[in-house]
Amino acid sequence: MPRDPVCGMQVHALWATAEVEYDGQRFFFCSLACRDAFVQHPERYVEPSSADADEGPPAPSGSTPHEGKCCWM
Ligand SMILES: [Zn+2]
Repeated sequence: MPRDPVCGMQVHALWATAEVEYDGQRFFFCSLACRDAFVQHPERYVEPSSADADEGPPAPSGSTPHEGKCCWM
């Protein structure tokens, strides 16, 4: 389930009050206040996806940081 990056609340995409697309990702917000806070300083709320330590949602295809055994590391 998507999470409101501003307040941390889980927001179902269908129930979200507001929606913003940033850096190729789509973010959902519980309120317009959260949406406004995000659009003013999106970099403050966007975390690298690799740092997500939550319940381990299924990884979206095409966003794997490494392709198997890295050849350049
Ligand atoms: Zn919120």
